[in-house]
Amino acid sequence: MNTQAHGIMFHHFHGGEHIKAQGFLSAQDFDDLLTWYGKNNNIIGAEEFYEKAIGGKLGKNDVVLTFDDALRCQYDIAGPVMKDRGLTGFWFVYTSPMTGVYEKLEIYHHFRFYMYPEIDDFYAAFFEAAEDIKDMLKVDVTAGLADEKWRGYKPESTFYTDNDRRFRYARDYILGADRYNRVMDAMMEAAGYDYEKYVDLLWVKEQELKALHKENHIIGLHSHTHPTTLGMMNYEDQKAEYATCKKLLEAFLPTITTVSYPCDSFNDDTKGIMQELGVKMGFRAYPIENADPFFIPREDHSNLFKTMRNQ
Ligand SMILES: [Zn+2]
Repeated sequence: MNTQAHGIMFHHFHGGEHIKAQGFLSAQDFDDLLTWYGKNNNIIGAEEFYEKAIGGKLGKNDVVLTFDDALRCQYDIAGPVMKDRGLTGFWFVYTSPMTGVYEKLEIYHHFRFYMYPEIDDFYAAFFEAAEDIKDMLKVDVTAGLADEKWRGYKPESTFYTDNDRRFRYARDYILGADRYNRVMDAMMEAAGYDYEKYVDLLWVKEQELKALHKENHIIGLHSHTHPTTLGMMNYEDQKAEYATCKKLLEAFLPTITTVSYPCDSFNDDTKGIMQELGVKMGFRAYPIENADPFFIPREDHSNLFKTMRNQ
């Protein structure tokens, strides 16, 4: 891309007690990526990017670092590298884990990488589990994938493998959230995986977010429970997701005015909801150009990392 100011979207990092898996960056990978990307881009701090964005003054090479999902691995691994470089970024937080409701999204993610170091082994086990309980689910995933409609799902994520795409299509469209959870819960039980052992390793808490804020990072909204299809929700439910997030964060931080949309899922109501909540700028999850400060594009770290390694 590089024709418009944008964010880089980071998710998982590995190192120390944080497991290594597909697409995760080490501290060294992260540092290398910043050096490489910084050659042709102007990587700036969060406050500078924010002021420029809402003032319509972003230069086309301006880039900022963004971290979705408030993960401990981001804080533990990327945090020190940024500190060394004097860089700050945006941290988009979904708040349900702070209330003791451990969102299954991240637990499932940890489970699959922890138990299945090879992602294709996980996918095979997943489709097998869905097949095993298809009568209980009253949905046949195998049959639902047979027409190959999954090939057209999330075309923007060019780095997805066929299995990545099959899995996401099955999760979001064939199963839906409740049935997907039943398949995953069945797999975790069969594998003897106890998620309570890992929750402190997965998310940052109030104390880390306060520390980030104190060091001039910007904390933003990322919904309360991180639904994967917020853009399919009605107005009230969508607004409640963000309003709850905002209220919980503002219990210990100043007014929150930024957002990133979970799974890039939004609809025609979203911008109006943001304005009602006093939000001033937002990030998409794809490098799709847009002059609107509510839909600033982002490059995924996996894409950039692959490009860097291939050079
Ligand atoms: Zn997210």
